[in-house]
Amino acid sequence: MKIGVIGGGQLGRMLALAGTPLGQQFAFLDPAPDACAQALGEHLRADYNDHDHLRQLADEADVVTFEFESVPAETVAFLSQFVPVYPNAESLRIARDRWFEKSMFLELGIPTPEFADIQSQDNLEAAIKRIGLPAVLKTRTLGYDGKGQKVLRYPEDAHNAFAELGSVPCILEGFVPFEGEVSLIGVRARDGETRFYPLVHNVHEDGILRRSVASSEHSLQSLAEDYLGRVMKELDYVGVIAFEFFEVDGGLKANEIAPRVHNSGHWTIEGSECSQFENHLRAIAGLPLGSTARVGESAMVNLIGEVPPVEKVTAIEDCHLHHYGKAFKPGRKVGHATLRCADKATLQARIDELEQLIQG
Ligand code: AMP
Repeated sequence: MKIGVIGGGQLGRMLALAGTPLGQQFAFLDPAPDACAQALGEHLRADYNDHDHLRQLADEADVVTFEFESVPAETVAFLSQFVPVYPNAESLRIARDRWFEKSMFLELGIPTPEFADIQSQDNLEAAIKRIGLPAVLKTRTLGYDGKGQKVLRYPEDAHNAFAELGSVPCILEGFVPFEGEVSLIGVRARDGETRFYPLVHNVHEDGILRRSVASSEHSLQSLAEDYLGRVMKELDYVGVIAFEFFEVDGGLKANEIAPRVHNSGHWTIEGSECSQFENHLRAIAGLPLGSTARVGESAMVNLIGEVPPVEKVTAIEDCHLHHYGKAFKPGRKVGHATLRCADKATLQARIDELEQLIQG
């Protein structure tokens, strides 16, 4: 079976690493000449709206998926005429726009911060009167890794904020004084079967995910599964999906969903029976889902800007390096490492060792 992937970054690369043992082949559509997934499959180097190359991808592939949610809706609509595309176009439409996404959470009874649609500076001033400060102004689309957003703490922070974000449609969200951030990765098969991985604690710095630690037992696991189950059913979702939450007042508030394999699920490669990557491929290919049970205690640490010397990372016991083969650049995710240990104390010691190496 051949899988077509829109996007050829590290998520596409890790999908191919998981699918190759299943006998799958891969083709990636990505305009970047140095797309890092090309080491693992065919690279169709073209823009996402290039109909000739989209048609070629549809002809070659048995099923198409994507590795980022900013894929233009027309791309999915065009491809869907010729080949099954999972997740479906509606899931993308909702997940790529924070207004649609949060409106869906409200309709499904899932708690989320107060929010308002912002189309002008006047809208912003009015919304601040209703929601109060601090608040977070975010572009409705195309934001990632903390880009396209601004925290407004004092009235003067708001003065030029709409223009600072490019005078594009935005939402204003109430600032959540969260105790922690967690995410839930789930997978839904074509026949509607769903499975969930354990909740993961995430630590962000400057809006970028730095570290994820898989929980053993989390008191909010079943609540998170209930929320994500509602979303997957509503969207008739097929594949892996991530749901990011704020932990606040003993409950959860929805932040956002990502309709794809997710950075906070990378630990599942070594830390679970069947990784998020393999389960995504199983789901879209119509295969039985794999077990989401964890194997030991796991954490994932992102390598941002550069990968430390390989011989030093691999010298850390229980450490598994994933080098994405991308050019090093400040602020860019160029790799990650998973630490998988028998117990929590050892896990923490290994995390400290790796963090010291990264900082040194
Ligand atoms: P996002 O791109 O929406 O996931 O935001 C990136 C990070 O900014 C989140 O992981 C939080 O750490 C922080 N953040 C986003 N929205 C809020 C909010 N409404 N209240 C507090 N922190 C937020």
